[in-house]
Order: sequence, then C-alpha cells, then structure tokens
Amino acid sequence: MNEPEHTYDADVLIVGGGPVGAVLALALAQGARTPLRVTVLEAQPDSAPRTDTRTLALAHGSRLILERVGIWQQLKSATPITRIHISQRGSFGRALLSAEQAGLPALGYVISYAELQNALQAALRQCDAQYLTGAQVTALLPGAAAAQVQFARAGADKTLSARLAVLADGGRGLKQIPGIVRESRDYQQSAVVCQVSTALPHHNLAYERFTDEGPAALLPSGDAYALVWTTTPQRAQALLALPDAEFLAQLQAHFGERQGAFLSAGKRSSFALGLQQSKPITGPRLALIGNAAQMLHPVAGQGFNMGLRDAWELAQATLACAPSDIGEPAMLNAYAAGRRIDTQGGVFFTDLLVRGFSNAIPGLRPLRALALSALDALPPAKSFVVRRMIFGAKG
Ligand SMILES: Cc1cc2nc3c(=O)[nH]c(=O)nc-3n(C[C@H](O)[C@H](O)[C@H](O)COP(=O)(O)OP(=O)(O)OC[C@H]3O[C@@H](n4cnc5c(N)ncnc54)[C@H](O)[C@@H]3O)c2cc1C
Repeated sequence: MNEPEHTYDADVLIVGGGPVGAVLALALAQGARTPLRVTVLEAQPDSAPRTDTRTLALAHGSRLILERVGIWQQLKSATPITRIHISQRGSFGRALLSAEQAGLPALGYVISYAELQNALQAALRQCDAQYLTGAQVTALLPGAAAAQVQFARAGADKTLSARLAVLADGGRGLKQIPGIVRESRDYQQSAVVCQVSTALPHHNLAYERFTDEGPAALLPSGDAYALVWTTTPQRAQALLALPDAEFLAQLQAHFGERQGAFLSAGKRSSFALGLQQSKPITGPRLALIGNAAQMLHPVAGQGFNMGLRDAWELAQATLACAPSDIGEPAMLNAYAAGRRIDTQGGVFFTDLLVRGFSNAIPGLRPLRALALSALDALPPAKSFVVRRMIFGAKG
C-alpha cells in the first residue's frame, strides 16, 4: 500500500527573520516560477524598534545579492570602502589594499544593521511570503516526511509542518536541534562598537589594526567612522562605563594619530565574540544558514557576508528542484556540498587572524610584520586576499 501523501503548512519555513533569513525568504518569493508557500517566524514583535548599533562591512559580492532581491537600492547610508589600511600596534609592517588595484568601484560598503533590517522587514511585508512576528520558536523537529516547528505567538502554542525548515535564528536562539552538534571556541574577547568622528575626513579609507588585545577596526560610515574595538570582556565593560572624553583619550592611545584627533563618540554597546560551528548544516528536511550555521569573529567582516551566500545558495538549490523535491536529501546534499569550501575557508581564515594576530607571544610580532609587508609588496597575495574578501573562499 502506498504511503499517504503528506500535507504541509509550508514548502519552506524559516525560523528567524534576521537579515539572513529575510534574504532567503525574498529570494524564494521573487525567484519561484510556481509560487512557493514560504513562512518566516520571527521572535521580535512588529513594534520593536531596530536599535542594534552594529555596522556591517559588506563585500562587493554581497552587494550583488542585495541588488538582486531589491534591497540594496534602499540602503541610503551605504558608504563605500575604497582602501583598507592594515597594521599592527607597536611594530613596523603594514599593507594597503585598494579598490583601484582590484579594478572595482569599491572593496566593500559599510551599512547599518538597523537600516538593513528595516528595509528587509518592509520588503517581507510586501512579498508573497507569510511573515509572522512575535512568533517565538520553541522546538524544531527534523523528520524524513516533514519538519515540525513549534512556536508561541499571542499567548497560544502552535505547530507548523514544512517540506523544509530553515534555521536562521542567529545561533543563539534554539539551544537544541536533534542531530546537530555545536562546536564552539571562546576567544575571551568582546567588541565595543560605536560611531566616532575624527579631525581628518575619512576619504573612504578603512583601518584594521591588530593589537595584543584583539583587532580594532574603523569603517567609514557616512561622515564619521564606525568603530569595532575588540578587547578583553573586562576592558570592554570598563570602556562602556567611561565618560566620553576619557573613552576618546583611551581610543586615541590605542589607535594612534593617523586620522588626527578623535572628536566625539556615539552610543556604545558591546558584543561577546566567539566561534561557533554547527555540524552538519543539514538534517532530515532541515538546513542551517547564517549565524545559525557558523558564528564568526568580526575581524575580517565575514559573518554576514558568508550568511548571505548561505541564503542565496540555499534559495538557488530550492528553486532548482520541483516543489515536491524541496527538502529531499538530494537537494540538501547539494546545498551542503556547495557551502563546504566557502565555510571552511572562512572559519579557518578568521580563526587564524584572531589567534595569530591577537597575542603577545614572543617572536610572533616580527613574523606578523613580515607577513603584512609581504602582503603589501606581492600583488598576487593582495589579489588573493581581496578576492576572498569579496566573494568568499570560492573567489
Ligand atoms: C560587533 C559585530 C560586528 C560585526 N561586523 C560584521 C561585518 O562587518 N561584516 C559581516 O559580514 N558580519 C559582521 N558581523 C556578523 C553579523 O552581524 C552576523 O553574521 C549577522 O547578523 C547574522 O545574521 P543572521 O540573520 O544569521 O542572525 P541574526 O542577525 O542574529 O538574526 C537572527 C534573527 O532570528 C530571530 N530569532 C532568534 N531566536 C528565535 C526564535 N527562537 N524564534 C524566532 N526567531 C528567533 C532573532 O530575533 C533575529 O531577528 C558582526 C557581528 C558583530 C557582533
């Protein structure tokens, strides 16, 4: 006797309407020849203001993805990065990467997480996907016939079934997913982020400065700089509590004089940093994307860029198969295999930078200085770094 045909509440059910989950929903809603039933469950209520102070350095390749889903055109504050100055504190050796040398209009762009999220939410509300806010997912149960997702909304507990459930909860939402193991490394670092203004105009120049405490980045953002100052969790707490004048003085001492005086600082917030990798990134009728699949240190601005490529490639794998094949092992295997090189390359590269460049191990400082000088002097090395920044490991 034939198995009864399963009925599904959704073809694709996305847990988490953050930037990565939202881009997947838009790519599916816009790209399907036969409309797919796509549902997004987002824990934040609709009314919650997006106040995240994070800025994101977006690679040129990510701009192309955001253009295709119609979001890039709405990001009014996107600021191009045309040059990146890389150095280490207390030592010679530096490298300068430039868009001109790479033959591109920009190496990347700096955007506000809150502005991006607002634009994505507006687009989600207008597309064919069902977008449920205030929906706190409590369990995700993969299964060969259907994935079941349990959630609480407006005081009621509900369950939906899907051909494919996609976990895009940022890696800190659901604690347990059957069949998925999370490997993590605590770098004992936190990032303090805020906007700062400097005496000298930025001319679209970004800085990445390695120090023993961790990397400090200045990213051109509007007329000012977005600061990502990585340090120990204890110092991060102390930096948050300082009066502005004292904070600026400590930043000046930490960063140096290249941009002249630091004049003002906006609202500060901090983020704990670590590496977390989910293994595997697929299960029965389940796929993981974005920070749910891999959470990276922001040192090289890779996390969101990689998450966008997850979302885009999963959308293409889904759109390439017949609706009845969505969530089948062949489709999920294609997605997992397609992501392997990019993910492993990004994790390795980021982890190497964090651990190799954020310490005071004797003898390593001159080696790092040599590495930076070599990067600066060797065009193929520069081209390699620029291509991997722009397109990921596949670049
Ligand atoms: C300080 C800092 C600087 C960074 N800088 C960069 C950078 O320059 N470039 C870059 O590429 N990346 C950067 N990143 C990384 C980037 O922020 C993340 O990779 C990106 O935000 C991941 O997006 P996401 O959608 O996967 O997860 P998130 O942004 O975390 O979104 C997850 C969503 O899921 C929802 N959710 C969670 N749990 C549930 C649940 N149980 N039910 C329903 N919904 C749920 C949340 O409310 C949220 O809306 C930085 C990170 C930090 C901390």
